[in-house]
Amino acid sequence: MQKIKNYINGALVDPKAGLYIDNYNPANGKVYSLIPDSDTDDVQMAVGAAKAAFSTWAATPKEKRARIMLKISDLIEKNLDRLALAESIDNGKPLSLAKTVDIPRAAANFHFYATGILHFSSEAHSMEGSAINYTLRDAVGVAGCISPWNLPLYLFTWKIAPAIAAGCTVVAKPSEITPMTAFLLSEICIEAGLPAGVLNIVHGYGHKVGAAITVHPDVPLISFTGGTKTGAEIARVAAPMFKKLSLELGGKNPNIIFADCDFEKAVKTTLQSSFANQGQICLCGSRIYIERSIYEKFKTEFAERTKKLLTVGNPLDEKTKIGAVVSKSHMEKILSCIETAKQEGGKILCGGNQVKLEGDFKDGYYIAPTIIEGLPNDCKTNKEEIFGPVVTIMPFDSEQEVLQYANSTNYGLASIVWTENLTKAHRVAEKIHAGIVWINCWLLRDLRTPFGGVKGSGVGREGGFEAFQFFTEPKNVCIKLN
Ligand code: NAD
Repeated sequence: MQKIKNYINGALVDPKAGLYIDNYNPANGKVYSLIPDSDTDDVQMAVGAAKAAFSTWAATPKEKRARIMLKISDLIEKNLDRLALAESIDNGKPLSLAKTVDIPRAAANFHFYATGILHFSSEAHSMEGSAINYTLRDAVGVAGCISPWNLPLYLFTWKIAPAIAAGCTVVAKPSEITPMTAFLLSEICIEAGLPAGVLNIVHGYGHKVGAAITVHPDVPLISFTGGTKTGAEIARVAAPMFKKLSLELGGKNPNIIFADCDFEKAVKTTLQSSFANQGQICLCGSRIYIERSIYEKFKTEFAERTKKLLTVGNPLDEKTKIGAVVSKSHMEKILSCIETAKQEGGKILCGGNQVKLEGDFKDGYYIAPTIIEGLPNDCKTNKEEIFGPVVTIMPFDSEQEVLQYANSTNYGLASIVWTENLTKAHRVAEKIHAGIVWINCWLLRDLRTPFGGVKGSGVGREGGFEAFQFFTEPKNVCIKLN
C-alpha cells in the first residue's frame, strides 16, 4: 500500500517514529494509503530546516522566488489530471469539481502570488520638509500553515504561496483526512527546484503535529483554516506567545432571495451554493431566506431540481453531481444534525437520508441533498454549522426582518443576496455582518480582494496584498532632514 511521506529539508522522509494512519477513500470506505503519524520530533526537524533556510530565502531576489513559484504553478497545471484524481479519491468530491475548481485554483494561487510579490511595495510618508519616514517590510520568519480537508490543495496553497512569495519559509500541515495532494505537491516542489527547507510538509493529526507547530517558539506566525473550535484552541496557545495569527473559521451563511430577483439565476445558483462539494465549502449558503410572495414557487422549483439534477454517485463518474462526504464520522455527524432538525420541528422537503450505493461503493459515505423547512430562525439547526449537503429554507416579509435573521448567528463569513434592485442590493450588503457579500452570484473570487470572516468566522484577512502584509513585518525608518 502506498505510504505518503513527509517533505522535510527538501527530501521525502518517513516519520521518525515509523507510525502511520489509515487513509480512507470515502467513495468506498476502504483504506487505500497510509499517512505519516508524525509527532513533535518530525515538527522539530521541519522547523529546524525552515529556520536554517530562512535568511537565504528571504534575501533571494523576489524575481527568483517568483520564477520558482511560476514553475510550481506550471507543474500543477501539467499534472492537473493526476492531482484531480488524487483529490477526488482522497476527499470524495466529484472528479469534475476537482478538475475545474480545486486544482486550477491551486495553480492560480502560486501564479497570483508569484507575480503579485513583484508589484508589492511599501510606503513612504513625508513630514513637510522636516523628516521622511519609510516603511520596510521584512518576511516574518518561519510560518506555520495549517489547513482543512474540504478544499485540500486549494486552501493549502492559498497559505503557502503568499508566505513563500513574501520570503517566509514554511512548516505546513494538511488535514490528516485528505493528505494526498499535499504529498504530490511536495514532489512538484522538488521537481521545480524549490530550495531545501523553504517548504516543509509534516503529515499527521492536529492534536500532535498541528499543536506542535502552534506552540513552537521558532514559529512566530500561524495561518490557520478550519473549524471555529480548533481556531479558538490555536488562539489560546498562540496569543500569549504574541504570534501573528490569521484564523479562517466556520460559517453559517445566509442566502437571501428577494421577490424581485432573476428567478432562474437565483434557483440555478442556489443549487450550487447549497450543495457544491456536498455542502462542504465554508462559503456555502446554508440558511436560505425567501421573500414570502415567491416562497412557494421558489421552494417547489428548488426541491424539484435538487431531486432531479443532483445525482448522488461515484465521484469519478462524469454524471455525478454529489459525491461522498469526507469521512464516516462526518457522515454520522451530518445525519445526527438532520435528526436534530426533525426534533426541532423541521419538515424534510427532500433528502434527509444516507444513500446506499451498490457494488464497489456500497460502503461509501453518501448523503442525499437535503432541504428542510418549518424551523424557527433561532433553533440549533439554524445556528450551528453542519458542513454537509443540508440547507434550511424559510420565508421573510421585510428587509429589516431578513437582515435580523441574517445577522443572528455567531458566524460572519459569507452571504448571498438576490435582487435586481440595485439600491436595495447595496443597502442590504452594507448591513450584513460578513466578510463577503455576493450579489446575484456565488463563489466568484478575485484573488486581489481581502478574504476572511468576522465574529466566530475568524480574524485577520488573507488574499491580495493583505496576505503580504500578514507574512511581513513593518518597520518604520524616520530620517530627520535638518
Ligand atoms: P478542523 O479544525 O478539525 O481541522 C483543521 C486543521 O487543523 C486540520 O489540519 C487539523 O488536523 C488541524 N488541527 C486540529 N486540531 C488542532 C490543534 N489542536 N492544533 C493545531 N491544529 C489542529 O477543521 P476541518 O474539519 O478540517 O475543516 C472543516 C472546518 O473548516 C469547517 O468549520 C469549515 O467551515 C472550516 N473552513 C473554513 C474556511 C474559511 O476560509 N473560513 C475554509 C474552509 C474550511
